[in-house]
Amino acid sequence: MKTIKCDLCEVTADGEAFEDWMQALLPHYMDAHADVMKGKEGMSAEDKKQEMDKWMSDNRVRFDAV
Ligand SMILES: [Zn+2]
Repeated sequence: MKTIKCDLCEVTADGEAFEDWMQALLPHYMDAHADVMKGKEGMSAEDKKQEMDKWMSDNRVRFDAV
């Protein structure tokens, strides 16, 4: 089980695998960083996918580094 900080604040989430960690972090993200999610609403589907892919790969690196 790994405990990794949110990429935007000091809140932590736990997960056995990266996917578990992401699921654990999601409710916090929706709650605490709703403005960040909202800020992406104007983006095209293609841009959103690219952002998401980048977020996934950046955070997977952080997860694997622990
Ligand atoms: Zn956060």
